[in-house]
Parts: sequence; structure tokens; C-alpha cells
Amino acid sequence: MSPVVDTVAAADLTGPLPPMDVAGRADRVRAVFDEPGIDALLVTDLSNVRYLTGFTGSAGRLLVTPERMLLVTDGRYAVQAPDQIADHGVAAEVAVRTTPGPQDEVLAPAAGPVRLGLEAASVTWADQRRATRPPWTAELVPTEGLVEGPRQVKDAGEIARLARASAIADAALAAIAPRLLDRRTETEVGLALDTEMRRLGAAGVSFETIVASGPNGARPHHRPGDRTIVEGDLVVIDFGALVDGYHSDMTRTFMVGEPSETQQRMYDVVMAAQAAGVAAVRAGVEASEIDRTCRDLIAEAGWGDAFGHGTGHGVGLVIHEDPRVSKASTAMLSAGHVVTVEPGVYLPDHGGVRIEDTVVVTDEGCSTLTLAPKDPSPAPA
Ligand code: ZN
Ligand code: ZN
Repeated sequence: MSPVVDTVAAADLTGPLPPMDVAGRADRVRAVFDEPGIDALLVTDLSNVRYLTGFTGSAGRLLVTPERMLLVTDGRYAVQAPDQIADHGVAAEVAVRTTPGPQDEVLAPAAGPVRLGLEAASVTWADQRRATRPPWTAELVPTEGLVEGPRQVKDAGEIARLARASAIADAALAAIAPRLLDRRTETEVGLALDTEMRRLGAAGVSFETIVASGPNGARPHHRPGDRTIVEGDLVVIDFGALVDGYHSDMTRTFMVGEPSETQQRMYDVVMAAQAAGVAAVRAGVEASEIDRTCRDLIAEAGWGDAFGHGTGHGVGLVIHEDPRVSKASTAMLSAGHVVTVEPGVYLPDHGGVRIEDTVVVTDEGCSTLTLAPKDPSPAPA
């Protein structure tokens, strides 16, 4: 059976979004406490705190035990934290600390003398040292990915947010792309895209918008500068919108004026590689297989060395999250994963081409969230 690649209907840009199952998430994390052999987990990564509670503040620590969740935050969030937790129907207690000092010590008595998991990827050395002293009495266990693992599989409410963020980016690009013909600078185009996404309802941008023209396109993560976009340029635009904490991610490459033979071939090769990568996405396929599919096609064209980055990554509450889609990835794709497929070819003398879509993995194949046309002309007739 060949995989099915379909596109979801373009999401509405406004109106209410379906609810997310925030309250059900803690039990999915408790279910993996056995793996590192812990009795409780101290969640310090703010995206993970948000995932488990709905709390969006910039300071907070969450203790998850088999029976309780206890969030400590500071006085700035005394009202917001309980409100957001209640809005999401989450059973978590909130402690607000108004005196200066490490907030997480409030959690020590609730943790008690247990095997306590610390999130190795976000805990600082200072945090770790503090947790070895009173009032902490727990035995510390480094853990990795206990929340990020379950977080990879998105529910319908999360996918709706990713779809809306993608639809906003699609609409913004359609509005702004014709300006590439008007001798604008990269900065002007980037700012126009960002403004248009905000105007269309985005809470912000997913990351600093990349507009890389001409020779700058050979740098995959170029920051927009004062270079004016001129005839003969390839222009790589990589950007996304933020909706209710969820990020979109899409790259399109435009050709201003007539492309050279090499530029046209770069575009055709990357298009074919990207399409083959998307067609290979399906639950039960190894992420490294998607990377290999794209990489082999680009290598066959003689540009294996000109594709110097991974093929993609998960997208969600964080712009680059698991599962990684790379040669070294050990991840297996599952239904509900949301990943990008973004091969590219970068040649200093000709510029860059990258094409990126964000797709939802399904049992049959995948659904594409980023629906902007892949027409390299900035203003198709
Ligand atoms: Zn991107
Ligand atoms: Zn990406």
C-alpha cells in the first residue's frame, strides 16, 4: 500500500478553537515513572509545565507525584496561574511565593524522601546542588524526555492550533510574496510578513523570520539584512506563526526574474526530494528513513554535500522538538506526530533552495498543514 498524502482543509483564521485534553496529560507522564524508577518528577522546563497545566507564565516549577500536582510560581502570577489551571480542568494545587529566593523549595516537603526525577535537559547545576540540601530530602534521579515523549503525539485540539498557525502563515505569504518584485530589502520583506501574521491573528512569530536572498540564501539560517532583492535572486523564506503557544513552520523559495539553468535545476531537485520525503511519511516508518529518502535524491543529483542539515523536526509548543527527522534519529513515527520535511541545496555561487512543509503523521500517510503553493514565481499570473 502506498502512503496517502493529503492536505487538511485550510483552517479558519478566526473563531473558537476546539479544546485540548490538558487534564489527561499528567497520567500519561506518570505512566512512564517506572522507566527511570522514580516516585515523583520535578518539572522545570516551562514548555512542559505549560503542557501539563495550561499555565503560560514565565516562572514556575511543577511537582508531579502519583496523586498530586503542585505548581509554585511567584506573585506576578497569583491570579493567572489558578485561573489557567481551572480553565483547563487540571487538578493541580498552586503555591504562590512572594518572597525572593528559590521557589522550588516550597515543593520539597510535598516531595518528601522519594526518588525524585529532575529534567536533565533543563535543570541547572545550581538547581541540582540546591536540591541536595535541606529542605530537600529526596534522592535525585536525572530523567530525559518523560514529558517530551508523550508531548510528541498531538491531540485534535493541538492539531487545530497548528493548522491555524499554518493557515495564517499561508495567508501572510500570499499577501507579501508579490513585494519581492519591488526591490525591497530582506528586512522589509521579513517585517511585512511578521506584521501580516500578527494582523491575521497570530500571537507572535514562531522564530525570527528568515529571508535569505541571492548569495545569502546559501546560509540556511541567514538573518534578514539590508540587501535589496534583485532580478536573478533565489529567495528562501522560512517563517511561522504562533497560535495559543503552538508554532507553524514553512519554507518556500522564490525565483525573482528568470532563473539560471542551475537555479532551476536546484529548485526541481529540492522539490522532488521534498515531495518524496513527504510521501514516505507514515506511522511505523523510522524518521531516519524520511531523511534518507530526501538525501539520496539530492545526492543522486550531485549535491549531497550541499545539503548540510537534517531533514526535519517535530513542531508543537517548541519550534524544534522531538521527533528529529535526521540521519542519526532513532525515532519511529507515530500517528499524531507533527513533523517538518525540509530538504535544501545551498551553493554559494547560485544561492539556496529549501522547501519545507509541516505534516501530521497518520496511519495511512500524512496530512499537510502548510498549504501555500510551491510556485517559485512571487506573483504567479
Ligand atoms: Zn522552517
Ligand atoms: Zn523547520
